[in-house]
Amino acid sequence: MSARIRVGISSCLLGQAVRYDGGHKHNGYITESLGQFFDFVPYCPEVAVGLGVPRPPIRLVKSAQGARARGVKNAQLDVTDKLVAYAEKVAPKLHDLSGYILKKGSPSCGMEGVNVYGPQGRSVATGVGLYAGTLMAQLPELPFEEEGRLMDPVLRENFVECVFVYQRWQQLTAQRLTAKALVEFHTRHKFIVLAHDEKRYRELGRLVATAGRSGMTELGRRYIQQLMLALKKPATRTRHANVLQHLFGFLKQNLDAADKRELLKLIDSYRRGQLPLVVPITLLRHYLRRFPEPYLSEQYYLAPHPDELMLRNQI
Ligand code: SF4
Repeated sequence: MSARIRVGISSCLLGQAVRYDGGHKHNGYITESLGQFFDFVPYCPEVAVGLGVPRPPIRLVKSAQGARARGVKNAQLDVTDKLVAYAEKVAPKLHDLSGYILKKGSPSCGMEGVNVYGPQGRSVATGVGLYAGTLMAQLPELPFEEEGRLMDPVLRENFVECVFVYQRWQQLTAQRLTAKALVEFHTRHKFIVLAHDEKRYRELGRLVATAGRSGMTELGRRYIQQLMLALKKPATRTRHANVLQHLFGFLKQNLDAADKRELLKLIDSYRRGQLPLVVPITLLRHYLRRFPEPYLSEQYYLAPHPDELMLRNQI
């Protein structure tokens, strides 16, 4: 794995005492596990717009112009425009980030499901934090995830995989993108995409087939847009099992009948939810070491992120 990966984060998740009450929301999994591979770049939008610590709490309030961020006790306090303007100012500076982790439920940082209150002070809807919503709109390809959702093994694996894919893309496009480099990048990510979204897998193949016929900058832009959309669709057990069957197809001529039976049985047990993904993948990698097959060895699907994170032990 190459250089450490820069990931934006809500400051309070790192343990910085920036919350309205002077506290923090340190998340040990993020700092200890993901922190082995990610360099976190903290942002606290409420502090950045001058609300200070401690500060009067704010919340999202329903209005004719959409949700607004207003003081819980003082409705005259309205920081909507400041939060949006701050996100718009920050977004262009985040080009070196490969992902972003947001604090759940915050009227500024929440990615989804943030309570929106009505005039009676009751929650009447849910929405998106104003800073987070603006950033996500400005940076549609950047992988975003919430700290709460990261506790779900499937969503966690999905996010980390997206971050690594996106970082490889950033490295690739740090130099001028060539048709050859795009074809190679796509080839090595084929099975990752297939595990997420078969329809987009085919569309991406068609897009890459046009490489060299038109401007590479525009093609690259369309490619990464489609790729990140494909990866947003979580990979399911069934789709993973189909990919594993596919990989088996490349190796089977080297295996004897008993080895074939064993591998197929493991894939089937995985499909039924009796085994985690790491089990059939480990056996496939073992056979690949014994019977090298360059096309397969280069597939990021077999090692999309560091084994130390043990992300495939839980899905
Ligand atoms: Fe600051 Fe966002 Fe954390 Fe609130 S959730 S304290 S705005 S970083």
